[in-house]
Amino acid sequence: MKLTTRFAPSPTGYLHVGGARTALFSWLYARKHGGDFILRIEDTDRERSTEESVNAILEGMSWLGLEYDQGPFYQTHRFDRYKEIIQQLLDQGDAYYCYCSREELDAMREGQRARKEKPRYTGLCRSRTEPRDGVEPVIRFKNPTDGVVVVEDVVRGKVAFQNSELDDLIIARSDGTPTYNLTVVVDDLDMGLTHVIRGDDHLNNTPRQINILKALGAELPKYAHLPMILGSDGARLSKRHGAVSVMQYRDEGFLPEALLNYLVRLGWSHGDQEIFSIEEMIELFDVESVNHSASTFNPEKLLWLNQHYIKSSSPEHVARHLSWHLGERGIDPSEGPDILKVVESQQERAKTLVEMADNSTFFYQDFDAFEEKAAKKNLKAAAQEPLSQLRAGLASLDVWEAEPIHELVKQIAESMDLKLGKVAQPLRVAVAGAGISPPIDITLELVGRERVLQRIDMALAYIEQRVAANGG
Ligand code: GLU
Repeated sequence: MKLTTRFAPSPTGYLHVGGARTALFSWLYARKHGGDFILRIEDTDRERSTEESVNAILEGMSWLGLEYDQGPFYQTHRFDRYKEIIQQLLDQGDAYYCYCSREELDAMREGQRARKEKPRYTGLCRSRTEPRDGVEPVIRFKNPTDGVVVVEDVVRGKVAFQNSELDDLIIARSDGTPTYNLTVVVDDLDMGLTHVIRGDDHLNNTPRQINILKALGAELPKYAHLPMILGSDGARLSKRHGAVSVMQYRDEGFLPEALLNYLVRLGWSHGDQEIFSIEEMIELFDVESVNHSASTFNPEKLLWLNQHYIKSSSPEHVARHLSWHLGERGIDPSEGPDILKVVESQQERAKTLVEMADNSTFFYQDFDAFEEKAAKKNLKAAAQEPLSQLRAGLASLDVWEAEPIHELVKQIAESMDLKLGKVAQPLRVAVAGAGISPPIDITLELVGRERVLQRIDMALAYIEQRVAANGG
């Protein structure tokens, strides 16, 4: 049987970090063994499932590059199949209609509470087969009453559950719709899952699912339950801890590789290696070596990885993602300097793509004001003469390239007996609008002569006004 894993999110929100880690581990495992990775959308809860959420999940998977070999399958398209299996279980005596009314169930629970027993369905309707007026029955699975179910979990080892602790689970609601544990089992079976890798919040469902699989005469998949991800305060990671949605990380300027690299280390390690390319992850990852204790989410480490990937990825790759961020700001990067050159000039100096986009906007867009602090410090009377000379020199420069630009700036500084910074920094503020930019010669080359001259004029006008107002 071909090794097959799956990611089976319920579309009731965005794709969050925990889900993305489950998807990544399942994907890596399939890739490593030449198997198939399936995406299955578990949308049977019609009240909570939304189309936006399905789209958010698909978008998140695609942004992360976790492409699936089969699917997406939608459980709502498979109701006929679930009905068939429910009927099969009824026919073979492994399921039964339950006509208990709400009052009866409440009384059952009250009695158990009074006797200090765990609330559970007693199996009352196992022997009560007559329909009852006014009660739309549910269908329950006839769980074995004794014996032990041992989950041979790849991550946690053997976990034993007493059948006496498991009651007869509802597999179809009174309106006939199947419930989670039934649909998962049917799908895992039909889709040929060999490995079920999922969050450990599902561990308690596993013995129930195993019992249903056994009733269907199926071979069991291997189970691997992944440890929880905690926030820095030790509570389960949630919105309270900041971004948990994968797409929010994109919006905040992370590269997908950085997030994937971060996620792979949540619960798994390979010596003390921190940086893993996708190829290395596929080669080295193994679900058997996933740690069974919870891991803590560390935003600083993610930021450090992001900076690493911004620095070390190819300019083409970074440019593709930066273009998206510029597009979000209404900038069309094809209407300006070559984005590859912009990226090359910025790769060393940005922790996120948002920061890079913020600091690159001036390459593409004119501005109508200088950043106040930088202007106050640099665009003053003393800068008037150097800027005027620069303007004249730049206007007549033969070749508009970084090297001659650099020579010119140096020459002007020398001829005026000024340190290079006294000339370059006012020029930078004039051209970039702020005190930070890549090296001045590259900056000017990329902004282009026409815009540079316009911006120097704007800076000179600013200085003139300032001198007129307060004498410099
Ligand atoms: N749909 C379930 C969830 O989103 C996962 C089911 C499974 O992995 O078995 O939590």
